[in-house]
Amino acid sequence: MISQKLHAAVNAQINAELWSAYLYLAMSLDAESKGYKGFANWFYIQFQEEQAHARIFMNYLNSRDAKVELLPIEEVPSTWDSVLEMYKHTLNHEKKVTSLINNLAAIAREDNDFASINRLTWFIDEQVEEEESARDMIAALEAVDGNKYGLYMLDKEQAARTYVAPSPLAAE
Ligand code: MG
Repeated sequence: MISQKLHAAVNAQINAELWSAYLYLAMSLDAESKGYKGFANWFYIQFQEEQAHARIFMNYLNSRDAKVELLPIEEVPSTWDSVLEMYKHTLNHEKKVTSLINNLAAIAREDNDFASINRLTWFIDEQVEEEESARDMIAALEAVDGNKYGLYMLDKEQAARTYVAPSPLAAE
């Protein structure tokens, strides 16, 4: 059985993942409105991934016979000064998500809930990738330093990114 404390924290995490999805959807729309179809694609895939993260947690609660509770999703910003600002916001946001996931893992450890620790291990690894990919994009954008041709090329590159269902969902 999953503890009441972890159950409530995972429900809050489902909301946080859906909030992340909403945040990246807003960035995708803002990038598109600024003429960057490639970055819009990158953020749209991020939007899909965050929904998948929420779904993985929902499936997990269901599999532990714990009820999923959907809470209201708070408003997100709608405009950023530049694409670089979007990725800086992304990195800061993902660092916060990492600490939320770490907190879930700490609760599971207190509970000696090894099944939850196993599920959370996937998310711990995923957060390393999320932070790394945001950092890589910041480095690339800082390297082009606002140069229009450089931005055009980076945007074109991101248009090629495709969505792949995360392994816990793909395995189902
Ligand atoms: Mg996530």
